[in-house]
Amino acid sequence: MSYEGVIEQSVAGLKELVEAGEEIIGYIYPHVPLELFIAHGLTPSLIRALPGVSSGFEESLQTFACSYIRNLYSQRANGQFLTLAGLLFPGNTCDALQNLGDVWRIRFHDDRVLRLTYPVTRYNQDESTTKFLAEEIRRLSDKLFKTYNRPFLTEGYDGAVDLVQDFRNGAQFLYSARVVNPRLISYSELVRLVRNFLTIPNLSSVSEIKESMAVVQTAADELSLTENIESVKGAILTGDYSRVKLPDTLETPRIVIAGGMVEPQAIVSLMNEIPDFTESSIVLDFLSFGFKTVFTGAPSKSDNPFMAMAKSVLSAPGEPTHEGLSFRMNAMRGLLSNLSIQGLIVCEQSFCDPDQFEAPSIEKAACELGVKTIRVPLDSELSDRGRIETRIQSFIETLE
Ligand code: SF4
Repeated sequence: MSYEGVIEQSVAGLKELVEAGEEIIGYIYPHVPLELFIAHGLTPSLIRALPGVSSGFEESLQTFACSYIRNLYSQRANGQFLTLAGLLFPGNTCDALQNLGDVWRIRFHDDRVLRLTYPVTRYNQDESTTKFLAEEIRRLSDKLFKTYNRPFLTEGYDGAVDLVQDFRNGAQFLYSARVVNPRLISYSELVRLVRNFLTIPNLSSVSEIKESMAVVQTAADELSLTENIESVKGAILTGDYSRVKLPDTLETPRIVIAGGMVEPQAIVSLMNEIPDFTESSIVLDFLSFGFKTVFTGAPSKSDNPFMAMAKSVLSAPGEPTHEGLSFRMNAMRGLLSNLSIQGLIVCEQSFCDPDQFEAPSIEKAACELGVKTIRVPLDSELSDRGRIETRIQSFIETLE
């Protein structure tokens, strides 16, 4: 399915829900406690930048605003947003998102704006970070109750934990399967499934993932690859690659796409325009709306729900919007050196400061391992796509 087709499908699904009276809470930063909203009887939906939205200079936003949030702002200003019950903005992530939330509250004062503030760091020994986030999630829960008159239901929470975990189990398996043999499922199909779930996290989107997982599992069994897949999945989840077993013969080149809030579908659409390029060369992404959302731990049901959700959110692979550069680079080295990767495409959202600060370190880490890299600045409209495709094509030729 094309990028435009996937977007249409997501929007149509959301429209149906809105028309059926569901209350949708949009969110922009990917690491949110989905279980919390579902436990309150609300539907969390990841709001994305869209191609084809004109998002040039917007006088209300600061000059440092990245192309991603300009696109979101323009969607709302142009009346392209669906009617949402509320919109969640993150605090303490990046200046651009902070600015967007502040301006949104003033400019679109009829919208219900919610905020979840994150701790700056994720790596300390005394649990103060987790407690901070747990308290923020609890305050958000109070706000949801007061605003929508929907209490936090323990039964709903338990069901939500299972639902989200079913999604992650399936998506983690599919991601790991592609590392072992990218032909088991195409990258575009995998990111479409993930997108569907993040747009509407319900039984139907989870069933679709489970069905794909069953098909891939059968194919993997026939090729005797299931053990390899489980070894990769375990290694990514624990960071211990000592037991990774890859097949003796691997199709090359093997490329990883790294970056932050870059749309995985946009990458697929770009790469598919490159002559002689096949999607099976992309073995993994390291993007916020893909890998980093999928490889997040589940909340433990035996813990206090707010502490459990905080732990889960903080277990996601790190984002450049937070401290912990050395931790992230070590994780990146682990992936690159143990999964037989030859090339790394580092995508930077245009005018995204966190991406631009992080990219040189990623490049250096990859270079030390002999992995070739290319840095690609992108905006949500892919406005410079011809030049970018040519650069990526030349890069792939160097790998061959
Ligand atoms: S793309 Fe970068 S600058 Fe823009 S919202 Fe995301 S982290 Fe912030």
